[in-house]
Amino acid sequence: MSIHIEGINKSFGKTQVLHDINLDLPSGQLVGLLGPSGSGKTTLLRIIAGLEHANSGRISFNGNDVTDLHARDRQVGFVFQNYALFRHMTVFENIAFGLSILPKAQRPSKKDIKQKVDQLLEMIQLSQVAQRFPAQLSGGQRQRVAFARSLAVEPRVLLLDEPFGALDAQVRKELRRWLRRLHDELHFTSVFVTHDQEEAMDVSDQVVVMSQGKVEQIGTPDAIWEEPASRFVLEFLGEVN
Ligand code: ADP
Repeated sequence: MSIHIEGINKSFGKTQVLHDINLDLPSGQLVGLLGPSGSGKTTLLRIIAGLEHANSGRISFNGNDVTDLHARDRQVGFVFQNYALFRHMTVFENIAFGLSILPKAQRPSKKDIKQKVDQLLEMIQLSQVAQRFPAQLSGGQRQRVAFARSLAVEPRVLLLDEPFGALDAQVRKELRRWLRRLHDELHFTSVFVTHDQEEAMDVSDQVVVMSQGKVEQIGTPDAIWEEPASRFVLEFLGEVN
């Protein structure tokens, strides 16, 4: 699913936090939204999700305008930093959750739900802990369950807000590889927010560098390393102190 973002402006009260954002994100790519805290990354992600509405501008998925659609009608999946797993449900139940609450007409049979969840558990290599509760898992395992849960409903677009933020460096690295692998196996389009340049450059097909509510540069990690578009980008990448 390609994502087209055109002329997005967003203010909270009198403060404008996004200024004329224009982006074309091709289908099937893993895109990193990179920038310092307060640069507008989360707000842009929430607008793509339909959780927040822009003051002006349009968003389309595969050429279809979704600007006025509610989040639940955009077929997007989310993964947030703080896991947001249901504590009273097992790993299996957490992953099955999105499918089990679908309207009756769309809801798969119990057997199909089980098959789907088992397949996802295998993919995230957590079949052995299907009957455990989130508290009995490590942080990295919990986040893998969160990925699987968001993928169960086969979203057209997966949006991740600092998905590795709360984890230690080693686990963050492992999870990056997970995200990359799941992404390559399942061919969805994903956008993830991070303030960590190494993370964005390591895992993304394209990086969008943001500063003060504007896009400073968009390009492949190599292109951005080789030709930073501005002094801000250069400094943010750590080339100059
Ligand atoms: P980032 O994700 O890059 O840290 P955000 O999108 O969270 O940036 O925030 C961008 C700016 O918008 C910040 O100055 C933040 O304080 C402000 N902001 C974000 N959400 C709200 C809100 N709901 N109400 C008021 N201001 C907000």
